[in-house]
Formats: sequence, C-alpha cells, structure tokens
Amino acid sequence: MMPVTKSRTPVRVLRAKPLGRLDWLAHGFSTRAGGVSQAYGRKADLNLGFTQEDTRTAVEQNRSRFFGALGTPKWPLVTLQQVHSDVIHRVTRKPGRSRLTGDGLVTNVPGVLLAIQTADCLPILLADPEHRAVGAFHAGWRGTLARIVEKGVGRMRKEFGSDPAKLLAAIGPGVRACCYAVGSEVREKFEAQFAYAAELFEEVYDANAVHNRYPLLFLTARAPGHSETIGPELHLDLAKANRKQLEAAGVLAGNITDLALCTACKTKLLFSYRAELGKTGRLMGAVAVRPANKSRSKS
Ligand SMILES: [Zn+2]
Repeated sequence: MMPVTKSRTPVRVLRAKPLGRLDWLAHGFSTRAGGVSQAYGRKADLNLGFTQEDTRTAVEQNRSRFFGALGTPKWPLVTLQQVHSDVIHRVTRKPGRSRLTGDGLVTNVPGVLLAIQTADCLPILLADPEHRAVGAFHAGWRGTLARIVEKGVGRMRKEFGSDPAKLLAAIGPGVRACCYAVGSEVREKFEAQFAYAAELFEEVYDANAVHNRYPLLFLTARAPGHSETIGPELHLDLAKANRKQLEAAGVLAGNITDLALCTACKTKLLFSYRAELGKTGRLMGAVAVRPANKSRSKS
C-alpha cells in the first residue's frame, strides 16, 4: 500500500450560484484539488471513487475532506452502482448497507447526502425550493439517450409535487462537445429518440486539435502520415442534450446553471476518463437537504 501523505492544498469545491443561495441546501462538485491520492500522477489528488488503482484509505480521507468542505461532515451518504440506465431511486430514510443500482437519486429527507460519481459523464443536480427536495443524476450518452434527467424531473413531480417551473438545475463538469467524439451509431440512436437530435451533433473536420490532445490514442490507433484520410469526427454535446431534456420537462432555461467545464480539456483541475486513457480518479456531484438545526447561517 502506498503511504498516505498530508495535503496542504485546500479542497476546491465548485458550486452553482443559484443553488448556493439556498440556505436549506448543501451542494457541490468536486475537483482534483486538495486530496491525498497519488495513484494518478499527482501527489494531492482528491479521488473520491474506490477505483482499482487507488487505496481505500486515500479515498476515505478524500471523501472526508470533500464532505467537510461541503459542510456535510459524517452525514449518511447514498451513492449508486451506476449502470448508464434511467433507473431512479427515492431515498426515504437513512441509507442502510445495501447498494442501490441505477443512475438517479431523489430525496426530501434532511441530512442525507446524495452523490453521483463521474470522470467525463455529466453530474446533474436538481433542487426544489418549494418542497425542499433534491435530486442527483448521472448522464453519459447512454443515460441521456434513456432520458435520465427528463425522467428525473418527472420523478420529483410525482414524489414531492415539484413544479418543474420552480426547479433549479445545475450541470456539473463533464466531457464537452469540444472533446467528445462518438461513433455514427450514437447519432443514429439519438436520431431515433429525439426530434432535435441534429442540434446535438457537430462534424469536426480539424482533427489536429484532437491529435494534439490525445497523442497516445492516435499513435496506437493510426499509422503516421495518414491523418488526411480521417473523415470528419462526430462530436456530441451532452450538456446541450441534457439542457433540452430539462426544458422539455418544464424547467425554465433561466433556472439551469451550466458550469461549462470540460473534464478532457482541464485535466489539471478535473479527472477525465477519455483524456487520461481510462486510468483516472472519480469526481463527485453531491446534494443534500440540510436538517433544520443545521441551516447555514446567513452571515
Ligand atoms: Zn474539451
């Protein structure tokens, strides 16, 4: 086991301003900053997932740091065995030991932290200020195709009586259209599901940007000197797709905050499965209803 070292870098939490203004709510998106993991080429990474490469001790220390920075220390945590589905669970009590499988969590139980783990997929949070309820969703291309977020809004309506027009949404860091090349079969699947599918894809002819960004990928995948034979790349805008779903479900455009951060562009700040060729840590998007006695003081 690798020795765990102390980190002097503070934990850096990203927040959506409109959600940050709600004193009954705790939320945040993690970054790499402020951890103790050494498994991914740095000395102070905040890896929050129990990955193959990292030690359990390091991840537990990182989680404790992150939850401390969120203002939710030692609160019961609910995570998912994420499977790129449209399965959403309502958390009705303090979580037990059983592990839930799915890609969405909603609750109105105060003091329970809901968390989504990602390293390119989008973490998306919902908050209902009227009923003090929250949701957290995991949206990669498969989950997006399955309408996880659109169904998430519907589920909050059903469970808590949420009015979509009053919901606040936050789209966290994830791989953006600039870096998200997909196969044509992905476009075909989206075209079969969404009338607006054409708006979500862009053909990118300048493959050099991608070559520069992922040199290793191209060294192994293609013979040098033949780059001119590469056709346009198809890039998917996952954030736009999820924004569309939120709006289709009745969330107002003005109530959607997109942090607009690309994991693959910013590997100094964030973990990216693609840009780091599959060997990387996990970020977390987390949200909770604060217990009444733990409401943040408005100083
Ligand atoms: Zn990018």
